[in-house]
Amino acid sequence: MTSRTFVLAALAAFAPALIPASGQAAGLERLTILDCGRNVVKDQSKWSPGHNVGKAKEFSSNCYLIKHAKGLLLWDTGVPDALVKRPNGLTVAKGLITLYRAKSLVSQLEALGAAPGKIDYVAVSHIHGDHVGNLKAFKTSKILMQKSEYEAGAKAKAPPFTKDQTIVKIEGDHDVFGDGSVMIIATPGHTVGHQSLLVRLPKTGALVLSGDAVHFQWNWDNKGVPAFNFNKPQTAASMARIRGVMAKYKATLWINHDQPQTATLKRAPAYYE
Ligand SMILES: [Zn+2]
Repeated sequence: MTSRTFVLAALAAFAPALIPASGQAAGLERLTILDCGRNVVKDQSKWSPGHNVGKAKEFSSNCYLIKHAKGLLLWDTGVPDALVKRPNGLTVAKGLITLYRAKSLVSQLEALGAAPGKIDYVAVSHIHGDHVGNLKAFKTSKILMQKSEYEAGAKAKAPPFTKDQTIVKIEGDHDVFGDGSVMIIATPGHTVGHQSLLVRLPKTGALVLSGDAVHFQWNWDNKGVPAFNFNKPQTAASMARIRGVMAKYKATLWINHDQPQTATLKRAPAYYE
């Protein structure tokens, strides 16, 4: 081994497994935030143990449409569009959670010229109902999810996908467009195959879309893990991993369910470049 190949090999050994160091966001054009409903919970401490016990809280729910030269990616699908017709919402989890939706996902996509048939990829953070509520609407898209999450969904009483949908079963990280601009990052713990998304926008810079790796700012600041998570140590490790990715890419964390943060962000028709 020459000294040069030795140096290259040594560098490769320390390179993060997933993210190409170069390949900055040449093909990535924009990200648009869509209103994907809201959840009102009776006792927020189920998500933030010991904090604000017995107090209600409103969660925001966002979906994110990402436009790349090579195609359109939708991240998460929110609460079911059918709830638009139920202004009083749908109460689930033995009365703990009420789900609402003001406008449908499909109508918001159509208004942007991105009807479901035009969406190349739909990636879901995990298979909980406030994230996969409209997954079945994307009949021609490639669905990107962790293999373990797919297997959990296939075993569920009501699978969130149909047998004729194309599911790409990911194991670990995944570079969606092949240039490092949009990277699925495995962040298990909330569920068995939970994933988050790193988006490196040309002007806005890098963002991490949390999924439910973290539910709101308090959890992030206090490393709080919901008691009902699939695996608590794994959730903590995934949060640590996100911190590492954020440090490396100087990324901002967008916490999907953090209503105060969502209120500071621009939703469609505005967008981020
Ligand atoms: Zn959620």
